[in-house]
Amino acid sequence: MQAPSIGGVQLPRGQGQTVRLPRGSSLTDFAEKIGANPASLVAVMMHLGEMVTATQSVGDETLELLAQELNVVVEIVSPEDEDRELLETFDLSWGEDEGGEEDLVIRPPVVTVMGHVDHGKTKLLDAIRNENVASGEAGGITQHIGAYQVMAHAGEDKERRITFIDTPGHEAFTSMRARGAQVTDIAILVVAADDGVKPQTIEALNHAQAAGVPIVVAVNKIDKEGADPAKVRGQLTEYGLVAEEYGGDTMFVDISAKQHLGIEELLDAVILTADASLDLRANPVQDAQGVAIEAHLDRGRGPVATVLVQRGTLRAGDSIVCGDAFGRVRVMLDEHGNTLTEAGPARPVMVVGLTSVPGAGDNFLVVSEDRVARQIAERREARERNAQLARQRKPRFSLENIQEALAAGQRDELLLIIKGDVSGSVEALEDALLKIEVPGDEVHLRVIHRGVGAITESDVSLAAASDAIIVGFNVRAEGKSREAADREGVEIRFYSVIYQAIEEIEAGLKGMLKPEYEEVQLGTAEVRATFSSSKFGTIAGCMVRTGLIRRGTKGRLIRDGAVVQPNLTIDSLRREKDDATEVREGFECGINLGSFNDIKVDDVIETFEMREKPRA
Ligand code: GDP
Repeated sequence: MQAPSIGGVQLPRGQGQTVRLPRGSSLTDFAEKIGANPASLVAVMMHLGEMVTATQSVGDETLELLAQELNVVVEIVSPEDEDRELLETFDLSWGEDEGGEEDLVIRPPVVTVMGHVDHGKTKLLDAIRNENVASGEAGGITQHIGAYQVMAHAGEDKERRITFIDTPGHEAFTSMRARGAQVTDIAILVVAADDGVKPQTIEALNHAQAAGVPIVVAVNKIDKEGADPAKVRGQLTEYGLVAEEYGGDTMFVDISAKQHLGIEELLDAVILTADASLDLRANPVQDAQGVAIEAHLDRGRGPVATVLVQRGTLRAGDSIVCGDAFGRVRVMLDEHGNTLTEAGPARPVMVVGLTSVPGAGDNFLVVSEDRVARQIAERREARERNAQLARQRKPRFSLENIQEALAAGQRDELLLIIKGDVSGSVEALEDALLKIEVPGDEVHLRVIHRGVGAITESDVSLAAASDAIIVGFNVRAEGKSREAADREGVEIRFYSVIYQAIEEIEAGLKGMLKPEYEEVQLGTAEVRATFSSSKFGTIAGCMVRTGLIRRGTKGRLIRDGAVVQPNLTIDSLRREKDDATEVREGFECGINLGSFNDIKVDDVIETFEMREKPRA
């Protein structure tokens, strides 16, 4: 069978084949899979009107367009799938306990403390840490390694451990979740009884609820004058947190972090909540797996990382890979500064021996030998580089591509974060948006967070973690949050007229918000003479009159002011005897229009390009 061609370029033979490509692959990656020359794929893209270099990482649409043209089926693989496959090639997997039900044993809950600034998160973590000194462990907690374990009793004689993540605030929580690491089992929401529910209280609550993490409320500062714990309970019912004593299922505990009141009760409440609503079990006898909580470069020890073991047992001497870092566990320390030889499920430990610093939220696993760890780490590093390039180009979830996601059955909800200049406008916008009716009722709109003020990094990480879109009404994004949004591929839409916001979001929900393209004229050339070549057909000897003529762009032929052929491609372009990619105004050139040969002297060749129109 003859290989197909477009515009004279022979297409590689790839018929019917299925190729799997990681998101953000380049044409070279594609070519490799089908055994073609990368340059020929560049040429094909050029004929399709896109200038792409062979090594540049491209978006999903480009890969799909190319696949269609080459008559192959392309499967674009997500980073998670890819990582799973990468591990599979080494006969490994991450995230599931090995064995069956009988191999699982109960493990401690992992807790994060969240709440409004100054409501006492840090003080509470200190109080819990100190409380533990009384209940055991000589020396107390001396090392701040990012997490620690304490004991609770929970009504029984038996002591039960709880693991606390030692970084207060929901930023840490959400940034880990954005990286795919669900570390927290239970969130303690700290609310000062003298101050009540505040914007960050609600923000923290939204973050926990979006992650499906049960909440225990610590009503703090009950020692203070003006403390009104009942009011806090009342306020939180509005957000779906109803205290047990009011018939709900959320545990509220009155505490004073300063005077160490209610701390034990709070720990008990954590255990009771875990027992009531979660099934926290893990297999302790397997190679360890978990997540990095914190990592930095220590002057003396090199990279150190605090990891949370989620399943299995981590041992000194194990070869591990953590994100794109790898190495061997040389030294393992707990929060008391003790050297450990092994650490089981829900145990946080500081590990020395990695060759580089992993990121918070990176997963880790023990592998059989150093070589495997190194290979996995290197492949992940290369993949992350590509993915980052691809992310910069296109939001992973935007109003324009929501229809695709809906059609693919991936979503039936559009999640929004609304930030506005004043609370009145935020409420008005939210009300109006929630009233949008979508025919067939297939799509729902849900506002997962709202607030007054500029768009912050925390908003961006929540959006990234939840695949939400941010709507800014009369507010801007701070410099850093803008960067974070670009990096994470989060779409932010700014509005200053409510009506316009509603119209666009409604259009997005109904699938009308296709990208708009506009034609941009590149240049014109006047035909001075024609030659015919046995190899190419008609070649037009031209003078470029305006702009420039570029090889591979679209063109049309105009004769006596009328368009003779609207859809042509500048198939080859020559300047004197050499091939040229472009020829500027005032120069002569030779143009071939592929299979179109009806060119006459005095015809005008006009070239143009379709560009995506920026939205107002
Ligand atoms: P964070 O911003 O939530 O971490 O709050 P901090 O833990 O830094 O506490 C803020 C302020 O509240 C500090 O001055 C604490 O000493 C004070 N504070 C925290 N807990 C209590 C408490 O139970 N009672 C009183 N009276 N003050 C507290």
